[in-house]
Amino acid sequence: MKRPKLVDLNDAVQHPGRVVEFAVETGLEEEEDVDLLRPITGRLEAVSTGNVLFVKGKLDAELVLECSRCLKPVEVRISVLVHEEFDVEGVPAGFGNRQHAEVTEEGEAYPLFDGNQLRWEDLVRQSLWLSMPARTICKDDCPGIEDYQPPDDGGRPELAALAQLLDDEEGES
Ligand SMILES: [Zn+2]
Repeated sequence: MKRPKLVDLNDAVQHPGRVVEFAVETGLEEEEDVDLLRPITGRLEAVSTGNVLFVKGKLDAELVLECSRCLKPVEVRISVLVHEEFDVEGVPAGFGNRQHAEVTEEGEAYPLFDGNQLRWEDLVRQSLWLSMPARTICKDDCPGIEDYQPPDDGGRPELAALAQLLDDEEGES
């Protein structure tokens, strides 16, 4: 397995109020269910209140989705909104008492931190899924499924079959 991409946010965790910015760029190579046209890019920032570490920002993504009406591929550009908060335990070292604060993710099913290092690519992936549009239309007057020609390469034959089924039903009513 590929080593996770980490960004060290210790500086933010130990110094509440200090904003740590970092650039991200990823093609999400391990994500097979997303067809990106180019890498997702942007900047994120992390800042701690002492008890909570916020990681937020807005990234740009261009990807291919399926038209909700005719199922043809559509190229779309979306903003991926990242807005996560993580609990912080301990006393930040920046308070000068030789102690140390650390992000804690007790009970999290998919932890994103190794110590105070964030696996930012996993965070981007989660945020991408949450930012996906519920509906994609190829063009305003998309006629729907009747115009759909199944691709010759046999991709997704089950969808073509479904399209035919829906077509038949509409024809009867
Ligand atoms: Zn369409």
